[in-house]
Amino acid sequence: MPQADMTNTDELNRYLFDNMHARGELVQLSNSYQAIINNHNYPLGVRLLLGELLAATCLLTATLKFEGEITVQLQGDGPVSYMSVNGNNNQQMRGIARLAVADMSNEVTTLHDLIGKGTMVITIRPTQGEAYQGVVALEHATLADCLAHYFEVSEQIPTKIWLFIDDDKQQAAGSLVQLLPDGDGSSENKDKQESDFEHLTQLTNTIKADEIFTLEAQALLYRLYHQEKVSLFEPQAISYQCGCSSDKCLAAISQIKPDEISAILTEHGKISMTCEYCLTCYDFFADDLKSFTSKQTH
Ligand SMILES: [Zn+2]
Repeated sequence: MPQADMTNTDELNRYLFDNMHARGELVQLSNSYQAIINNHNYPLGVRLLLGELLAATCLLTATLKFEGEITVQLQGDGPVSYMSVNGNNNQQMRGIARLAVADMSNEVTTLHDLIGKGTMVITIRPTQGEAYQGVVALEHATLADCLAHYFEVSEQIPTKIWLFIDDDKQQAAGSLVQLLPDGDGSSENKDKQESDFEHLTQLTNTIKADEIFTLEAQALLYRLYHQEKVSLFEPQAISYQCGCSSDKCLAAISQIKPDEISAILTEHGKISMTCEYCLTCYDFFADDLKSFTSKQTH
């Protein structure tokens, strides 16, 4: 496994720009990204986009103000038919990509060439309460710009996102700058907001990939924003967690008709389920499934 340069990997930092009514986020990922791509044998373009989607979903998950989870899905008519990253308010992440083709060239790396004509679906699912779903067409060249577009249409909040991947080191990173909803809505206020956003965008544009992958968060933020007053929140650790379990598989199997379960057991001696995310294989034998098969009425 490649050695990461960052001292604290898999960490999310959130901060406020005190004099500007704006906020920012920085995410740096190593182990969680590797856990998602390892063992899947994804082509280069899929590894890159999945890393971007992971970093982006971490940035979005940090905006959750309640217990719950966010899923960001990309789907389209390209060689990558489906890609999804899911994370909760504790920054426990997982992700998956499905290919529509058996062989994909390593030359295919742009969002459009990978997903084709497609959409991004963002689902916010609070532990308590109604789920909310937003859909936008993937009309921009990069995932970062598609996400900024999502914020613009769904929440009317000026947002800019930067995403970085290092395929050799297997690291992903991202940053976000976002205005806070403004106070009095006066035009004077609006002008200041616009120029503040422009200013922060220009500063953040100067991030270099080798910095975001090697500098610790504090050093990087100082490098970018040392002229500004920045209040940093406690950093949040990010981890890979699939969330699959034997119980969840059994719950899925319980939806199958008892006579179908019996037929599979007769033919194969067991029912096997492989988690698509982490590739863990769960085997269930007749004894494990007794409560389902005994429901059989004939
Ligand atoms: Zn799993």
